[in-house]
Amino acid sequence: MVSRLARQNPPMQSVRLLDPESGLDGVIAIHSTELGPGAGGCRFWDYPDLEAAFDDACRLAEGMSYKNALAGLPFGGAKAVLRRPSGTFDRAALFRAFGRAVAELDGLYVTAEDVGTSVADMREVSTMTRHVAGLEIMGDQAGGDPSPWTALGVFESMRTAARLTLGAELSDLTVAVQGTGNVGASLCRQLADAGARLIIADIDPRRRNALGAVLNATVVDVEEIMAVEADVFAPCALGGALTAQSVAGMKARLVCGAANNQLARPEVADLMLERGIAYAPDYVVNAGGIISVSAEYLGEDRASVAARVDQIGPRVGEILDLARREGRSAAWVADEIAERTIAAANRQAA
Ligand code: NAD
Repeated sequence: MVSRLARQNPPMQSVRLLDPESGLDGVIAIHSTELGPGAGGCRFWDYPDLEAAFDDACRLAEGMSYKNALAGLPFGGAKAVLRRPSGTFDRAALFRAFGRAVAELDGLYVTAEDVGTSVADMREVSTMTRHVAGLEIMGDQAGGDPSPWTALGVFESMRTAARLTLGAELSDLTVAVQGTGNVGASLCRQLADAGARLIIADIDPRRRNALGAVLNATVVDVEEIMAVEADVFAPCALGGALTAQSVAGMKARLVCGAANNQLARPEVADLMLERGIAYAPDYVVNAGGIISVSAEYLGEDRASVAARVDQIGPRVGEILDLARREGRSAAWVADEIAERTIAAANRQAA
């Protein structure tokens, strides 16, 4: 079932996943293993073809290398991307087949939840391999759905970034949240508790309308959310929200959200700088989930997760501060720190 594809874009390594019986169809991309096994979640989504899934897996795996390095975790970067079958399928069997593929990699890749996957899916994976996290919580041990930790890290990042770049508290601000799924909804609840005004959008009407009613948030169409009158834009859907076009029409002066790979192209970071829009780099902000996943995998407790997630806000602050002093985008500052960390591990290993 697992066949290795040629190494491409060195050092990316990819593994094709195909099991027609269960409907498993996708790829595991492993971007780096200098700091430890490649760790990153499993995305289950509608992709038009394998190439689209493959491209997404490679981009996401690279992002995981940077995220894990910056969070100080002993893991490299990897990601699994599975295409959702178009007809009916046995979901448990599909995730068991995925678990067998992860098992074959023998610890080179550690998986967990991402968009479209749940604790129940990871439980199926765990019947086949121990290289999985994001399972049920046991006592004081780290574990469970990583989304609340991700949302907490985003919230703390936004609070720090708003003070630093807008000179304001969240209670004085309007936040536009794109995507009210696991992370987005949890973030919205924390923002509402902090007194922020909310504007939300989601392609799924059930998700946006129920949350909008409970939190007294303004609900808008997905096409509108990036250009609404708001102080902060929080991308919490899929990647690529920040394009030359969306940035040109953006009213918000700070972008801080959970989505992976928010910049459609790296240059968009400079366009934001030119327009005076501060950017809290996605993989610094959204590291809470992988912090929980890695602690679970390493058998650590919840207190250690909380302590590491507490460091996300201050880290975002340091990066934004350095970026401001150097007059460049925080995206580049974060990339440099991550690259230095990985290069140092490389030198140590040599
Ligand atoms: P999720 O699947 O629970 O939520 C995503 C939501 O976005 C869904 O409600 C979906 O309907 C909505 N959506 C999709 N396209 C949209 C669009 N164009 N406009 C508006 N809404 C849209 O996923 P999640 O776990 O909440 O993750 C959200 C993002 O955060 C993803 O990019 C994910 O990679 C990233 N992330 C998640 C975690 C985590 O712990 N779950 C950790 C790090 C990063």
